[in-house]
Amino acid sequence: MKYPEVRNYLDGGFVASSLPVLKVHNPGDGSVISTVPLSSSAEVDAAVRGARAAFPGWSGLPIKERVQVFYRYRALLERDMESLTALVTEENGKVYPEAKAEILKSIELTEFACSLPQITAGEVMEVSRGVECRIERFPLGVVASITPFNFPNMVPHWTIPNAIALGNCMILKPSELVPLSSSRIAELLHEAGLPDGVLQIVHGGKDVVEAICDHAGIDAISFVGSTAVAKIVYRRASAALKRVLALGGAKNHLIVMPDADLEMTSTNVVASMSGCAGQRCMAASIMVAVSETDHIIQRMVDHVATIVPGENLGPVISAEARARIERYITEAEAAGATVLVDGRQTVVPGKEGGYYVGPTIIDHVTPQMRIAQDEVFGPVLAIIRAKDLDAALAVENASPYGNAASVFTEHGGTARYVMERASAGMVGVNVGVPVPREPFSFGGWNESRFGVGDITGRGSIEFWTQSKKMTTKWNREHGTNWMS
Ligand code: NAD
Repeated sequence: MKYPEVRNYLDGGFVASSLPVLKVHNPGDGSVISTVPLSSSAEVDAAVRGARAAFPGWSGLPIKERVQVFYRYRALLERDMESLTALVTEENGKVYPEAKAEILKSIELTEFACSLPQITAGEVMEVSRGVECRIERFPLGVVASITPFNFPNMVPHWTIPNAIALGNCMILKPSELVPLSSSRIAELLHEAGLPDGVLQIVHGGKDVVEAICDHAGIDAISFVGSTAVAKIVYRRASAALKRVLALGGAKNHLIVMPDADLEMTSTNVVASMSGCAGQRCMAASIMVAVSETDHIIQRMVDHVATIVPGENLGPVISAEARARIERYITEAEAAGATVLVDGRQTVVPGKEGGYYVGPTIIDHVTPQMRIAQDEVFGPVLAIIRAKDLDAALAVENASPYGNAASVFTEHGGTARYVMERASAGMVGVNVGVPVPREPFSFGGWNESRFGVGDITGRGSIEFWTQSKKMTTKWNREHGTNWMS
């Protein structure tokens, strides 16, 4: 194995165990690069105990002192950029520029956490003569973050810097498919001076997640992953009376108008559907082509020819994922859709063990086909034809998901019309991947998000804290109004 076994990280150290393990694969060639322990409720319990013990000390520090850790941590992310990038490439499979973009985004997320003292300065007002009301924010206690496979470094940074800078202690449960990056995050935070117990990492799968949902010592849970599991986590943790924010899957629609800029639109749509092998919750999944757009579709097919699996397109995460994606293509074809570019049966010479799916474009998909409804999560774009803009919006609105939607047009009125009516939490104009950047928050609608609030940026402050309303009167007057 290229890397030593992954271990749980408790109270500032990596813990050896005799737990059963799962093999960790490099999806690029199928090789086994490490193992990850499958923890149980006992490990969750130990993590909670350590985090509870660390909480009074950590939350007792002024926020300006807590964020000093993240200033130092940010410098360490820059110092180790290359090795962190390489690790993401190996455990997730995405190509070097995509992995590097992930680390750059982690830096941006860390920078936002450094700004939290400025953003969370309290509110104060004299509400009656001599009577002052103020609001201060307090951490919740011990919180948990459960993360998916598609961004091994970035998604943990959606939650770790903000939740911890705001005074919480955190238990991280990384995806068992990509557990290696989280160990480096723990090491670097330790080097940056994060006290022991403030970040705990418990590895595993379903059992650990269920133990986190049930544990009385955990006050809040954030989850990022598929809608099916988001629902399980949301229901189970809410039943245990926890605060929960569960981000689910996506089915993002890009509406392409006939007046859209040819080059910009065709390159952006292709990049959105194929970047990170289509394994982004913001990736284009459906293109709704309005009226006469054949020239744009033809140009997209031209661009796709420049995408070479194993060079500028990484593999998907597993052999099962590849089989699932190929099944969707085959089913759509059997149902009458036209496969314009076919990525099935892709083999990369020298990497025959890798899980590759080539970029795929399927035209004349109908909204009733499964490929139009389910999240495929691969480099596959389904094109649905619509006669006009309202018909296109009806297709988008009918999706149970609601992460992202975009419109490509040169007409401002059309753009505004779509932005107002798309049923998604993140909308774009002439942007293939409309990810809000800090300080703007990330979060979808509908079945792409369960719970209130967003997971990053300003929106996350409300989730990771509770406000205390303080009313004081220090003047000596009395009898001046009803509050006296
Ligand atoms: P997943 O739902 O399979 O796994 C997510 C986490 O849940 C992992 O840590 C996993 O160990 C755990 N888990 C899996 N099955 C479970 C079960 N039955 N009970 C309890 N826990 C379980 O998701 P994934 O395949 O790792 O990630 C891809 C999915 O994540 C896609 O659907 C993608 O759209 C979504 N995603 C969404 C966002 C967003 O912001 N909305 C961001 C990234 C990824």
